[in-house]
Amino acid sequence: MWYNGLLDLSWWQVILAVLLLTHITIVSVTVYLHRHSAHRALDLHPAVSHFFRFWLWMTTGMQTRDWTAIHRKHHAKCETEEDPHSPVTRGLNTVMWQGAELYRAGKTPETLEKYGKGTPEDWIEKNLYRRYELLGIAIMFVIDVLLFGAIGITVWAIQMLWIPFFAAGVINGLGHHSGYRNYECPDASTNILPWGILIGGEELHNNHHTYPSSAKLSNKWWEFDIGWMYIRLLSLMGLAQVKRLPPTIYTLDSKQDIDRDTVMAIINNRFQVMARYSDQVIHPLLQQVRGEADKQHKRLYRKAKRLLNRNNALITQKEEQSLANLLEENAMLKTLYEKRMELQAIWQRRASTNDEIIHALHDWIHKAEESGIQMLSEFAQNLRHYTLPPTHRTA
Ligand SMILES: [Zn+2]
Ligand SMILES: [Zn+2]
Repeated sequence: MWYNGLLDLSWWQVILAVLLLTHITIVSVTVYLHRHSAHRALDLHPAVSHFFRFWLWMTTGMQTRDWTAIHRKHHAKCETEEDPHSPVTRGLNTVMWQGAELYRAGKTPETLEKYGKGTPEDWIEKNLYRRYELLGIAIMFVIDVLLFGAIGITVWAIQMLWIPFFAAGVINGLGHHSGYRNYECPDASTNILPWGILIGGEELHNNHHTYPSSAKLSNKWWEFDIGWMYIRLLSLMGLAQVKRLPPTIYTLDSKQDIDRDTVMAIINNRFQVMARYSDQVIHPLLQQVRGEADKQHKRLYRKAKRLLNRNNALITQKEEQSLANLLEENAMLKTLYEKRMELQAIWQRRASTNDEIIHALHDWIHKAEESGIQMLSEFAQNLRHYTLPPTHRTA
């Protein structure tokens, strides 16, 4: 039928085609714009990066420089008034539904100049992609109508709405609002879902804010990042080169001395160290306390894990009060909480010298071992075994 276009697809084939087309766009955003251009986590073969540039021009009208600059500024100014799209300062609804407008508003000459460095400035960028920024999506409209017929108009409209809604709205909105956190990084980022398929792995936004320069966004064995799968495939074909991944914890059972390597290893892995502290020290005690508590107190402990581990900058006034009540109720929890704060303070003191940090850490570990709290002393003993990867070791 002529109104079915050249491909003459049935309705379910059209749906599959839409999912495929929008998926390619999402992959272009996460692999090319986000991980490659904004964070330099991987290198791409010029043919691959050009394909992505072309595809983004055809399906979104976005340019590498603009996207990169606004995104880098988001990391630099996260959750402050200067963050181009924070639900913490602007409200979730604004970020969810007006993502595209926020991008346009954030595109000031100063932002582009300061944060847009190292993005394409070649002939085709200046004379085609930037000069005729809407031409690509106009061509896409014609192609969609030719291929799909009348329904092509809808196919095109969905393509145009996909990125403003999913990338700008869902990730920037929900990814700083709801979901779970593996790591207590200083901003409000969350992992929306453990399986990053629909938005190409960007669902794992808390992992990303914790390790922004990592090419891989999944961290736990049960998390899946489809963007990383494509990067692996491109690497196997020699079309991509991964430059950075999250740090890994190395331990040596024979190691007992707290030296420079131990300190560096602990600091490099500080987010994982804190996550372990939460799981191995605070959590078991909470379980026990909760089991023994009467009805009235059970309520108090319900949100305790979150309160005891949450980054201070993110605790609301109301939560602060609950936390104070909680600590007053249980002396052992209070000790564990204070030990957590002390440990964190060791690497947050910017001006400390290496020797001071080694000394402070030595002191912390020693006191924790002597605390008489089994979980805490085991955790501290374990820290002594931390070391750098073999290639970086000094001792
Ligand atoms: Zn973010
Ligand atoms: Zn990022």
